[in-house]
Amino acid sequence: MKIDFLGCSGGIEGSAPAGRSPSDYARSTCYRINDTVLIDAGTGAARMSMSEMVRIEHILLTHAHLDHIACLPLMIDTIAGLRKTPTLAWGLPGVLKVLRDHILNDAVWPDFTTIPSAEHPFLTLNDYPTDGPLRVEGLEVHTMTADHGIPACGLLVRHGGLSVAFSGDTGPDEQFWSAAAAVPDLHAVAIECSYPNREAELARLSKHMHVDEVVRHARLLPPHVALIIVHRKPGREREILAQISTAVTDRRVEFPVSGDSLTLPF
Ligand SMILES: [Zn+2]
Ligand SMILES: [Zn+2]
Repeated sequence: MKIDFLGCSGGIEGSAPAGRSPSDYARSTCYRINDTVLIDAGTGAARMSMSEMVRIEHILLTHAHLDHIACLPLMIDTIAGLRKTPTLAWGLPGVLKVLRDHILNDAVWPDFTTIPSAEHPFLTLNDYPTDGPLRVEGLEVHTMTADHGIPACGLLVRHGGLSVAFSGDTGPDEQFWSAAAAVPDLHAVAIECSYPNREAELARLSKHMHVDEVVRHARLLPPHVALIIVHRKPGREREILAQISTAVTDRRVEFPVSGDSLTLPF
């Protein structure tokens, strides 16, 4: 499985570490799996060329916050008419309802689920299956729980006998961690860590994770399972990196930025 972190920041921001392009550094959540599947479509999706966007068959949504969907309507508009089949977006019913009611409502943006026709639209909105995993593009996808105060989920993605659990946005969610720890072929957990420890109260109020909660829950995982730290809020990246690097010494930890890729096994 190849994961391109087109966007993995908890916000947007132009400054960058040495060697990184400022305009590309902090883009919001959009991960591309094996070139044809996206997890979320935040501003990271705008890194793709038009031909790369055309190749995307499925968009797996975790929730409908803007930093995770901002480029979905724009992307569908960009490639309108260039694909023979619709792009399929998948989500929880409550997430798809937000898209229908508040984004693709012919006021904020055209309803691309009926354009050019309801029979052959550019986009379809699809509920995740409830009777088993979603199987698309050689991937097996299971929804996982998330505690974000709105309809939201994590995703377990399996390919080639290895799995990665993506938390999506969430506060501490015991069910997510116990489910992840029970996955026999789990290779990595991509966990959001929005805040450093000094902002623990803000993390609690906004239902996000801060460093100590990530460290505490990661202890539930076998030591061969890597942590991928994502959704760091702009301006806090170095502090989060320093705190996690000090506290987690028993497993591999990755801190990707927009534009990085990981290929499993790593
Ligand atoms: Zn969110
Ligand atoms: Zn977010």
